[in-house]
Amino acid sequence: MSHTPARFALNAVARLRDQREEEGIKPIQARGWRAPRCRDCRVIESHCLCAWRPQVATRSGVCLIMTNKEVFKPSNTGWLIADVVPDNHAFIWSRTEVDPKLLALLSDPQWQPYLVFPGEYVEPERVTNSVDVDGTKRPLFILLDATWTEARKIFRKSPYFDRLPILSLLPEKLSRYRLRRSTRSEHLCTAEVAALCLDLAGDEAAASALDAYFDVFSQHYLDAKHQLDMNVSTPAHAELKPYVQSVTPLVD
Ligand SMILES: [Zn+2]
Repeated sequence: MSHTPARFALNAVARLRDQREEEGIKPIQARGWRAPRCRDCRVIESHCLCAWRPQVATRSGVCLIMTNKEVFKPSNTGWLIADVVPDNHAFIWSRTEVDPKLLALLSDPQWQPYLVFPGEYVEPERVTNSVDVDGTKRPLFILLDATWTEARKIFRKSPYFDRLPILSLLPEKLSRYRLRRSTRSEHLCTAEVAALCLDLAGDEAAASALDAYFDVFSQHYLDAKHQLDMNVSTPAHAELKPYVQSVTPLVD
């Protein structure tokens, strides 16, 4: 049973996980992770993140293309994007078949889909570095939420993406972002890429909320892993706070 209050938009990644579980597909249990996890945020219960879920309105939508494995990973950050962006969609990729709902979404006239992928791997005429914010269509960011090897395979073997413009994030944008957030890792995770896309689309509040939410998630996740007490007075929590509505916890 989900305990997420109904005031939140549905999280499409959570729904995929629930569907997989109903089909009898189980995650491979990692060793040393026996502590019970919250169903709604996947963090170990003592460090539950649910009270920190932000609420922001966005013009943009997101569509996550995932592997089966990602859906079950407690560290997957596509889940966080789906928590923040109300219009969120998620599909499990398969080489042999495509969900008709994905095709319907791609041709829905309210959306202008952008496939987010590094431009150096694509014919230059398909690549754009900006998002059309003045058009009547709302931007829909398609994010390949998988390892880099898997993402390349998805990119090459999904003919239905061939007609879409490729949104490539400029290196200077990326390095400025890394500098601002003092991110040490060379590769941005999917949530960080999504925050950059939202920012490009003029959804600045959602971009800031997602960045702060990702930082707060990482901290809860790592503190739980290292059996440290939960600390909610960090700069990231302070940054996230304006986007979180104070709620009375649901009693069940
Ligand atoms: Zn939780």
